[in-house]
Amino acid sequence: MYDVVVIGAGVIGASIFRELTKYNLKVVVLEKEIDVAMGTSRANSAIIHAGYDPEEGTLMAKYNVWGSELFEELCKDLSVPYKKNGSLVLGFNDEDMITLEALYKNGNKNGVKGLALLSREETIKKEPNLSEKVRGALFAPTGAIVGPFEYTIALIENGVMNGGEARTSSEVIAIDKKEDVFTLTLKDKTKLECSYVINAAGVYADKVHNMICEETYRIMPRRGQYYVMDKSQGDIAAHTLFQCPSKKGKGVLVTPTVHGNLLVGPNSEDIEDKEDLSVTNEGLDAIKDAAKRTTDKINYRETIRSFSGLRALSDREDFIIEEDKKVKGFIDAAGMKSPGLSAAPAIALGVVDLLQKKGLKACLKATFNPKREQIRFMELPQEEKQALIKKDHRYGRIICRCENVTEGEIVDSIKRPVGATTVDAVKRRCRPGMGRCQGGFCGPRVQEILARELHLELQDIVLDRDHAYILTGKTK
Ligand SMILES: Cc1cc2nc3c(=O)[nH]c(=O)nc-3n(C[C@H](O)[C@H](O)[C@H](O)COP(=O)(O)OP(=O)(O)OC[C@H]3O[C@@H](n4cnc5c(N)ncnc54)[C@H](O)[C@@H]3O)c2cc1C
Repeated sequence: MYDVVVIGAGVIGASIFRELTKYNLKVVVLEKEIDVAMGTSRANSAIIHAGYDPEEGTLMAKYNVWGSELFEELCKDLSVPYKKNGSLVLGFNDEDMITLEALYKNGNKNGVKGLALLSREETIKKEPNLSEKVRGALFAPTGAIVGPFEYTIALIENGVMNGGEARTSSEVIAIDKKEDVFTLTLKDKTKLECSYVINAAGVYADKVHNMICEETYRIMPRRGQYYVMDKSQGDIAAHTLFQCPSKKGKGVLVTPTVHGNLLVGPNSEDIEDKEDLSVTNEGLDAIKDAAKRTTDKINYRETIRSFSGLRALSDREDFIIEEDKKVKGFIDAAGMKSPGLSAAPAIALGVVDLLQKKGLKACLKATFNPKREQIRFMELPQEEKQALIKKDHRYGRIICRCENVTEGEIVDSIKRPVGATTVDAVKRRCRPGMGRCQGGFCGPRVQEILARELHLELQDIVLDRDHAYILTGKTK
């Protein structure tokens, strides 16, 4: 019998899960996919928003500003790439300049620190590659960038190191409640019992909610597509460059990533299918067109990848963080559109507080260790590199030449708690395949290492999910 079951190992479920492992509780996070961080938390803009745009008084405003304040320390503890690069919202005409003023006032009401309205000259001084048409900007020094899937994976690993349990390939298909005990049925017919359920199922949160509660909200997917540019384009922008937001969202941004690439997107498309992660010519063309307004310096021939993610848009305006009115002990953490990533650390604190108010008896553990280490070989000083190779020769063998990833790091990503079992899971943990050749050279080597370490046949290694085989058999 668990105290708390968290459904969904995206950044929201992972943050709540780790927070709960600070207490003397039996906690498990259940994820339907073969790996954690496979939903929206792996495909977004990776921005820790400062918090000037959510309307004052909303949960989005409260948790965004609070979450962004917690991020830097958390990333340090969890060894996750993070950079406070600051953001600029650009104004191009009179209407935009009024919007910037309104965002400035709203941000100050939300408690965002250091906001400033910049003239055209001040803006261009910060970002020389901006288009001629820029008239001024709102500068938010607390805006930041992060590795969103690295962060989510690190939260889960740290939660497991602290006594929590994480189960992948564990889709919840039914929930019942008798007296004070919930029974969750998984797809493989396993049953779990618990006192509290946290629903952090992303675009499927309404489906999970309706397994036990009356319908109180609906989630509609809103797709956003992106270009990822080679590192040759990474210096075009130092800050995250937004245009003025509209009813459809924050608009197309141009931003450096924590790994030195440039990200351009997203567009905004309301779709029906919660699995439709297509990337389309029309979508990408629309992004290119919109981004031109920000800068015409991007060379799109340096695109190394395109991808899309699904915003979990609910029919309410705000995040949904509440206990169901009729089913006591069932807590929704749903409708997590942007700024869900930025808000996640604070949402976790809010949900644990809510659980305690709803009767969860939880005592802090003296043994909780907030630290989680990960070796990034190329970032080490020369002497440490040499010492590491002496200790383990696999750190002396480069497997991914684009991102300079060693065999030692790949083996580590497989052996860690909730370790990688697929080629993409290795890629998300230590980056082989993220570079210019997109795994063309290192992909087969990564498959070999996975097969060797997991004691599987090479043909059994999948790309990113069950049955996504890469090889069909031996030719010789
Ligand atoms: C295009 C785009 C750009 C964005 N940019 C930003 C940004 O820059 N900054 C920011 O702050 N926010 C951003 N966001 C929002 C942010 O990405 C989300 O708020 C956040 O990732 C949501 O996390 P989550 O854990 O709720 O959902 P998810 O990451 O989708 O996780 C939900 C998990 O639940 C699992 N699941 C579903 N059903 C079940 C079941 N029955 N049983 C078990 N598991 C189940 C899923 O497989 C999934 O892994 C963006 C979103 C999009 C789409």
